[in-house]
Amino acid sequence: MLYDIIIVGAGPAGLTAAIYAKRANKEVLVVERGLYGGQVATIGEVENYPGFLNIQGGELADTFYSQAKKLGVKFVHDSMVDLKNSNLIKQVVCKKSTYEAKAVILALGSMSRELNVEGEKRFIGSGVSYCATCDGAFFKDKDVAVVGSGDSAVATALYLKNICKSVCIISKYPELKLKAYQPNVLQRLKDVKIYYSSNVQSIVGETKVETVILDSQKESIKVDGVFVTIGRKPDTEFLKGSVELDKFGYIQTDALCHTSMPGVFACGDVSTIKLKQIVTATSTGAIAATEALNYIAEQAE
Ligand SMILES: Cc1cc2nc3c(=O)[nH]c(=O)nc-3n(C[C@H](O)[C@H](O)[C@H](O)COP(=O)(O)OP(=O)(O)OC[C@H]3O[C@@H](n4cnc5c(N)ncnc54)[C@H](O)[C@@H]3O)c2cc1C
Repeated sequence: MLYDIIIVGAGPAGLTAAIYAKRANKEVLVVERGLYGGQVATIGEVENYPGFLNIQGGELADTFYSQAKKLGVKFVHDSMVDLKNSNLIKQVVCKKSTYEAKAVILALGSMSRELNVEGEKRFIGSGVSYCATCDGAFFKDKDVAVVGSGDSAVATALYLKNICKSVCIISKYPELKLKAYQPNVLQRLKDVKIYYSSNVQSIVGETKVETVILDSQKESIKVDGVFVTIGRKPDTEFLKGSVELDKFGYIQTDALCHTSMPGVFACGDVSTIKLKQIVTATSTGAIAATEALNYIAEQAE
């Protein structure tokens, strides 16, 4: 089957693109390898998405997904591994199958950065986590550490505070690096111990996490869980040679979400837009879909 538009990634960017493309009466397929809703499905409170004073990420993700589904967008669970272009037909090569379309929108988002310290990989699933909303409940009444200094680390600590016995933050900087939170955040974090200017040296334990060792103060902290929130990175290695990437691996786009390959567009966190938020993901998703529609119309002339 030849689709009009294939969208890879069902986060806010991809789902918005799908809604716009489907409302223009096109055959639309969304390919997603993980959770419908993307990162939003895994986050706690969202307070800066217009239209909602305060909404849980899971609820917002469900709303995006239901809207696309109700319009008749098709979804497939698969993982893209290559992009090919032959005679104006784009091939989205995935693990299970290859899907073809006249235009492709890449809305791949980003993935968690790793600490790359001893013990981290070994304890994934037995104490080390990258997603508090996914795994927080496993640490009910337990002691946990959140590694990171930014808004996501604070959001994670605030979320875990309601579940765990104790929460501490380990920040490599002498202060937290907050962009989105209000000044009263320190008040909300008053029972969270913050280790400033500290790097995790290793995570140790027998069969599960027991202790985090810090370098700076030669200190060790007894914890049952470590939540790593030190930023995100794009997972675009497989696109090298197909579309232009910047030095960090983000897909190079212009203001209209065009990539270096005609008929291929990128939006949301995976693109080179600077502000990586839900509102910019949805807005660039809408732009990418509109440009993809224009591209298809031009090819048909
Ligand atoms: C802890 C945390 C808290 C946050 N809080 C806020 C907030 O309060 N407000 C706000 O505006 N933003 C917040 N953000 C940021 C926001 O979630 C992102 O900016 C937004 O989700 C980006 O949307 P996206 O659609 O570009 O990417 P994503 O949401 O990352 O979705 C991309 C999707 O693509 C899929 N995918 C990737 N590669 C492939 C592949 N090869 N094949 C198939 N599928 C693939 C992924 O599985 C994923 O579902 C937060 C992020 C985090 C981590």
